[in-house]
Amino acid sequence: MKLPSKKLLLSLSLLFFLGLAFTKVFSLNLSKQTPKALEQELLLTSSNGILPEREANAILGRIENLEVKTHDVKPYEWLEKIAKDVGIPAIAIRSTNNLEDPHLRPHQKIMLQNKKGMVHIAKEGESLESIIKAYERMGGKRETILSLNDLSLITYLEAGQLLLREGTKLWIPTAYRSYPFLARPVNWLRISSRFGVRRHPVTRVRRFHEGTDLVAKYGAPVYAGQNGEITFAGWQGGYGYMIDVRHSKITTRYGHLSQIYVKVGDQVKKKQLIGRVGSTGLSTGPHLHFEVRRNSDGRSVKPSKYLY
Ligand SMILES: [Zn+2]
Repeated sequence: MKLPSKKLLLSLSLLFFLGLAFTKVFSLNLSKQTPKALEQELLLTSSNGILPEREANAILGRIENLEVKTHDVKPYEWLEKIAKDVGIPAIAIRSTNNLEDPHLRPHQKIMLQNKKGMVHIAKEGESLESIIKAYERMGGKRETILSLNDLSLITYLEAGQLLLREGTKLWIPTAYRSYPFLARPVNWLRISSRFGVRRHPVTRVRRFHEGTDLVAKYGAPVYAGQNGEITFAGWQGGYGYMIDVRHSKITTRYGHLSQIYVKVGDQVKKKQLIGRVGSTGLSTGPHLHFEVRRNSDGRSVKPSKYLY
């Protein structure tokens, strides 16, 4: 009784794959038409008349060739390396993909473009005007968006608005997203313990390490990671001498200090000297215990997410 059902399954799946193959071939044929032929066709039939072939080709020749492809991250790759390989700034890749966490995982899929700035992939019927407005807030410039993308190829007019077709790639040359970014709180020599579960070096008890331990020379300057207000400055048990700096969304914490130069209520600037590295509290040697906590719920988060 098993055999027939297997056969049935086989033929069913065969039919399914044949169907898939057919749609694949069909869509391939469609997309094969794109780069030159379709563009030319669009040009030649655009507006009210037919553009002479010579003029059409002249326009096509001026088009900056924006290329966008999907990249499967290899285990030995990281964001800066990929950016260097492609020849564009890492922030361009980070912004286009909106990577909150710049640490890439193997097999993560990211979009790679061959141009600086950002790439916008349009939804069906998105208006060019709304896209420009959105990217102007990220540093995009109307003139460059309008002049470096060939709008005659990628837009269509409807009810007085220029709209984009689904999947259209728009190059936004000068736009980048900004991400929460902290200045290095100390010029560290190495990281001795990262955020996560560990056995405490003094108590030998396994527990969650809420921050990152940055090994530095005794007395090395400690800087505020970002503009903020001092919400704690003094002795705090295992942390020894500790400082909390509250920023708009997060609070940074600096532990085991030997010196404190600020007091509660002080406003500090990014990279301002606030204390010095020490080994006070539960500590085995000079290092800065650096923590990042969300103001919304007070929970500690991975400091590396904000540090680089
Ligand atoms: Zn620590």
